Amino acid sequence: MENVIYMDHAATTPTDPEVIKAMEPWFAQQYGNPATLYSLGLLASQAVEEARAGVAAVLGAEDAEIYFTSGGTESNNWAIKGVADAHRNKGRHLITSTIEHHAVLEPMEYLEKRGYEVTRVPVDAHGLIDPESVRKAIRPDTILISIMHANNEVGTIEPIAEIGAIAREAGVLFHTDAVQSVGKIPVNVKELNVDMLSLSAHKFYGPKGVGAMYLSKRVRVTPLLHGGSQERRRRAGTLNVPGIVGLAKALQIAADQMEAEAARETALRDRLWRGLQERIPHIYLNGHPTKRLPNALNFRVEGIEGEAMILCLDMNRVGVSSGSACTTGSLEPSHVLLAMGIPAEHAHGSLRITLGRANTEQDIDYVIDTFPGIVARLREMSPVYNR
Ligand SMILES: *Cc1c(COP(=O)(O)O)cnc(C)c1O
Repeated sequence: MENVIYMDHAATTPTDPEVIKAMEPWFAQQYGNPATLYSLGLLASQAVEEARAGVAAVLGAEDAEIYFTSGGTESNNWAIKGVADAHRNKGRHLITSTIEHHAVLEPMEYLEKRGYEVTRVPVDAHGLIDPESVRKAIRPDTILISIMHANNEVGTIEPIAEIGAIAREAGVLFHTDAVQSVGKIPVNVKELNVDMLSLSAHKFYGPKGVGAMYLSKRVRVTPLLHGGSQERRRRAGTLNVPGIVGLAKALQIAADQMEAEAARETALRDRLWRGLQERIPHIYLNGHPTKRLPNALNFRVEGIEGEAMILCLDMNRVGVSSGSACTTGSLEPSHVLLAMGIPAEHAHGSLRITLGRANTEQDIDYVIDTFPGIVARLREMSPVYNR
């Protein structure tokens, strides 16, 4: 896929060549199982512990509070089901939001079918959660609050530190899905007042299929996977050594570049939005104007379908998405946009553009030049667009 302008970094990112280089030796040369006692295994186990220390340092955690998993989905499932099981004698009520990723919503529904109760706090028109609505939802039998740090569709950044303070005051465990925020904005588990935090390497230029969970040493959870005694007996299975080394390397690079890259992508994003707004009538921003990830731009285009825009942009070698990669292909409008009060027909006409390291000013200007023509042609064919 030469010459593609990729602008869907919320779905996944290309693996950084430096990350691939760091992973290389751990496949065919230093392939030992870190659970074994001879040198080959010890080498692997040292690499894993170095990676763990690196991740812990970036997040402001202790080494022993970092657990490696297969990705964001596993970390979220583990936090939610693990706490639900370990604390079921205290209560069976959980709190989440209406705009979570499916990897939080589905485990919550799974628990509801098994006798747990779930409260979903609403968001405002910008996708923002009011910490007071979380406070009001807490009951004596509440065992977990799970609220995402940054939304994967519109990029809105939630007031996690405030919600965390409320949770702590009430003595309720607090988990955040930080898959979209880690590597893009500062994430420190102490400053955010969280007990558990999920992250995934492929969202910050690391490999797919590897993630981590910060699990405060104060928290009791039931393992999701039972078997060997890896990860302090809390997550069985032979460790993905190359993946873990890659995750740590990718996180280090992202942390080192964060400030400069966030400023660069914000400037590109704002240039793109200004350019589109000047040339296309009746387009509206979805998401918070300022409390938003630096690379995220989601907007609705009155009168046309998101899918049509995606296909036309694809023919012009631009890769974007209409929402979550996991729901693309279904004809359901985005649950996030609906929760923000956007009518279904407008939610259908929404586009998500998420920028990344390789995007340049030329890419932005190319989209500004080509997209207005696409919109004009689609609107001419549209039965609902009112000229
Ligand atoms: C991508 C994503 C996930 C899932 O992570 P995987 O590593 O792909 O399983 C979970 N939550 C959010 C917010 C995401 O963007």
